[in-house]
Amino acid sequence: MSSYPGIFYDGLSARKHEVQVSFDTKSLTFSGSTVDSVVVWAFTGLRAVRKIKSGQTVELNTPAAPDARLIVANPVFGSAVLARAPHLRHRRGYSSRWWEHPWTVAAMVLAFIVTVVMTVPLLAAPLARAVPDSWRDTIGASIERMVSTLGTACTNTTGSVALIKLVSNLESSREGEILASSVKVINGPLTNAFALPGGRIVVFGKLIDVMETPNELAGVLAHEMGHIAERHPTEASIRSTGFSLFLTMLVGGSSTLTEFLASLGIQAVESSYSRDDERTADRIALELLAAAGADPGKLADTFVRLQKVQEKEGSLFLGNLGNILSTHPPYDERIATARAHSQVSTRPLLTDAEWRALKNICDQPEPSEPEVTASTAGNNLT
Ligand SMILES: [Zn+2]
Repeated sequence: MSSYPGIFYDGLSARKHEVQVSFDTKSLTFSGSTVDSVVVWAFTGLRAVRKIKSGQTVELNTPAAPDARLIVANPVFGSAVLARAPHLRHRRGYSSRWWEHPWTVAAMVLAFIVTVVMTVPLLAAPLARAVPDSWRDTIGASIERMVSTLGTACTNTTGSVALIKLVSNLESSREGEILASSVKVINGPLTNAFALPGGRIVVFGKLIDVMETPNELAGVLAHEMGHIAERHPTEASIRSTGFSLFLTMLVGGSSTLTEFLASLGIQAVESSYSRDDERTADRIALELLAAAGADPGKLADTFVRLQKVQEKEGSLFLGNLGNILSTHPPYDERIATARAHSQVSTRPLLTDAEWRALKNICDQPEPSEPEVTASTAGNNLT
């Protein structure tokens, strides 16, 4: 039986053992003066640490000793091993099992994350339309809970009834389409309104305070409904929290993690609507106002009012939720577009009494259940 000189590392220490290697039809055997006992490795389990090429050094181990190395520099040995363990010819054995290498796994995970992070923003729009309603609602509910901590819910009964009527009038032309699954009014520090994933809208009481007619407030709501119709809040949430949010949804993540991501979402959602998103929301708002019998041209009044508030309140208008104005179309353009759509209104959106009630919706806070449930989603009007 031929025997070949080789080097053996047992994988437990750095010590180098000089060994003599021989083999029969089923296994190779080696021993040396510094090796405790004769070692037998069956050909069937043999793994090539590096791909075996003719004439080159052969490096082997086995699954039972994954860190060990048997190194034989004899070219004849390599051919003899390949003849008895042909599987080593076709695959790289140990090296092909990339999942056993922590650094390889880490690199692949990193590459995957980088790919997803770069791809998710591009896929945000199609994903926003593809995700199940239950996901949208979970995301929206989480963000709404965050926003709700900014103030108490305004639940005055007659005011809530008037608000529901206003929203219903705006929705009336879109049969079967829910443009506002809920509208929540919060007596908080902002003069603002948001649409959230899942069709939730949050309006701050201060915004209702500054609106002087039902049409002005209807303009805000119709604009947010336009965002909802186009799934902009979900899209913005995906863009801003990206992969993390979706991973959380997929694994049914902890509520803490969901809340954390929601907090990221509310920060980023507002500033992530594009000018085109805003123009689209305005266009839908004009359609909804016209279909409700209002004069869509009065959307211009909404913008004029918001502009005045912004001039007066400055950053308070936006609160700490990001400077959305930088990406929005200028008010002048939005006002001109709205005025170009003026037409005679065919019916009032609310009676005077209903409007007064709505203006007072925050006057009698009832800490129990809100009359009008709502949530917030992504976008602010401006
Ligand atoms: Zn908007």
